[in-house]
Amino acid sequence: MHTFEFIRPENPTAAVTTAAKAKTAQQGADVRFVAGGTTLLDLMKLNVETPARLIDINRLPLDKIEAASDGGLKIGATVRNSDLAHHPTVQRDYAVLSQALLNGASAQLRNMATTAGNLLQRTRCMYFRDTAMPCNKREPGTGCPAITGSNRSLAVLGTSEHCIATNPSDMCVAMAALEATIHIQGPKGSRAVPIGDFHLLPGSTPNRETVLEPGDLISHVTLPPPRSGSKQVYLKLRDRASYEFALASAAVVITIAGGKVTQARIALGGVGTKPWRSPEAEAALVGKAANVANFRKAAEAAMRNAKPQSENGFKIELAKRCLTHALKMATTA
Ligand SMILES: Cc1cc2nc3c(=O)[nH]c(=O)nc-3n(C[C@H](O)[C@H](O)[C@H](O)COP(=O)(O)OP(=O)(O)OC[C@H]3O[C@@H](n4cnc5c(N)ncnc54)[C@H](O)[C@@H]3O)c2cc1C
Ligand code: SF4
Repeated sequence: MHTFEFIRPENPTAAVTTAAKAKTAQQGADVRFVAGGTTLLDLMKLNVETPARLIDINRLPLDKIEAASDGGLKIGATVRNSDLAHHPTVQRDYAVLSQALLNGASAQLRNMATTAGNLLQRTRCMYFRDTAMPCNKREPGTGCPAITGSNRSLAVLGTSEHCIATNPSDMCVAMAALEATIHIQGPKGSRAVPIGDFHLLPGSTPNRETVLEPGDLISHVTLPPPRSGSKQVYLKLRDRASYEFALASAAVVITIAGGKVTQARIALGGVGTKPWRSPEAEAALVGKAANVANFRKAAEAAMRNAKPQSENGFKIELAKRCLTHALKMATTA
């Protein structure tokens, strides 16, 4: 492993000022924040990430879960995934988020992993994690061997000819269905970004994964007030029952009145290059009777633009069944 300088800033402003010296945006940058370290230190051991300076943000006052002034919830950047999953308000009002977190990684990892770190975890594409291989995301312009190679676990939605890597997060899928907002403190001040705009599609620049600029620190995430009467489910399908990333997953927040769907927020995981909100599925559901035939139609709509690669075509039907079943679970619970 290469050598690096370890810095412990006194406050968020000092952290931002130090990180703003990075030459490029956060991911792949030479100056980096480190929180739980479960993504970054792994990638440093593999020489995929080689920052010269690490800014430890664990002592900053960003570790609270609090009621927000609008009736929603404010989640600090360094809140551990396990604390968030077990928080009583999250379990009661944002159950889909608790379920998604508890479906991720292992208990030990969840005790270290943080809210902001989870938002910024990187793809598990095997070529990205192997410096002996070319990879447009790691080294722009070198090519994407996954397109003609091993792509069973990779994306079918939002891909480009330059990258087909899946976003691996479970938490982000639930946050997409809950319409979370990411709050950022940067060298030019603070800003708030809806989660749907936070992650970028790969396009021709798969090395750029989010809207973060050099120095930008995620301070917290907010969730809007809970949707009264909504049913929430996170369903994750994977190769083994635990400690495995999703092949397909679905986050459902749905409200039914008089047997009809009045509101629906749907997001998919394991199939997209970013956490995949599906307005198509939502539009197909609202106003319709809450039955399996209509759930399947919504799932068809969600996957209409899916593009299979040589090994991952099975994900399209898997994701349809996953969403159909998640909707059934939510509405019959
Ligand atoms: C074996 C294994 C299995 C896993 N399984 C799953 C799974 O099934 N589902 C799932 O969703 N996840 C899974 N994960 C991923 C895990 O959830 C992430 O590694 C974790 O959430 C990252 O959080 P962290 O705090 O450790 O991030 P770190 O490693 O500390 O940081 C990750 C990135 O975020 C940046 N960063 C951290 N905090 C901030 C901030 N406040 N502002 C700006 N940038 C910041 C860092 O610079 C770095 O780029 C798994 C991980 C491992 C190792
Ligand atoms: S899919 Fe993306 S991450 Fe994987 S090899 Fe291709 S460019 Fe790299």
